[in-house]
Amino acid sequence: SRIEKRVVTLPDGTTVPCIGQGTWHMGEKPQEKAKEIKALQLGIELGMKVIDTAEMYGNGASERLVGEAIKGRRDDVFLVSKVYPHNAGLDKISTACENSLKRLGTDYLDLYLLHWRGRIPLEETIEGMEKLRKEGKILRWGVSNFDTDDMKELWNTTNGSNCATNQVLYHLGSRGIDFDLLPWHREHHVPIMAYSPLAQGGALRKQLLTDPIVNEIAKKYNVKPLQIALAWTIRTNDVIAIPKAGQEQHVLENAEAAAIELTQEDLKRLDEAFPKPRKKVPLDII
Ligand code: NDP
Repeated sequence: SRIEKRVVTLPDGTTVPCIGQGTWHMGEKPQEKAKEIKALQLGIELGMKVIDTAEMYGNGASERLVGEAIKGRRDDVFLVSKVYPHNAGLDKISTACENSLKRLGTDYLDLYLLHWRGRIPLEETIEGMEKLRKEGKILRWGVSNFDTDDMKELWNTTNGSNCATNQVLYHLGSRGIDFDLLPWHREHHVPIMAYSPLAQGGALRKQLLTDPIVNEIAKKYNVKPLQIALAWTIRTNDVIAIPKAGQEQHVLENAEAAAIELTQEDLKRLDEAFPKPRKKVPLDII
């Protein structure tokens, strides 16, 4: 599929498809579970093999649902989970990881992220992550919700530059990272994982849906406005977008977005509608 051909290279040379699947709020409603599992499995079949979850999501419910969805297909997915900041110290990180692995029904994670920065010193979290890596519980580790100063600090910490990615909020309606964080990542050859690439659902989503330029470009490609928004996040081949879709129709649409190659002219017009910031903006977070 188009997704499998359009890949992002991680610092260790591993390639992953540019569109994966988020799972926040999945597994929380029993009556939705079967549908959500089917949606995730369809996504995997379509090549969206990066699956993003966290111990936080539904208190483990998301990881358990992902575990059900990937049963018998572990080798087909690139599994990402996240540790709570308060579990990211040397005393707790191994247990937190072990619990995630149990819920997911696997013996390793492809990527383990520090969900956001808490009070535990970076040195200690890195040491814990490196230990898990040596034990084979995780293949690589990264961070989430780190702004440019945090990344610089990480790079100045022992083994900090072993970090494989930084998962941050990024979509057409919230492009603060285009000013300095994304350039920092490019300079250091560390890809970004874009969360909430479809603007989640609030006011900004409405802005994307109703914007005349987004709609005009969508018409040109015969797709929906949100597919243009998704294609926009992956335009540079160093961003992995992880939209969450519990409905198969949405999964299909998201997978199709990988086939949309926006032209320089499209990008210029989208820049006019949603300008890139001209000064530092603090990292947007959810
Ligand atoms: P998204 O921007 O991915 O939006 C998800 C919403 O959009 C859902 O309501 C979904 O509906 C809907 N949707 C999905 N595809 C389509 C489509 N093609 N057309 C119309 N609607 C669509 O928001 P999220 O906040 O969920 O972000 C994605 C993932 O990123 C999360 O699930 C999580 O894994 C991760 N994340 C990480 C954070 C962090 O701190 N590291 C913070 C926030 C998110 P439906 O489900 O009904 O299909």
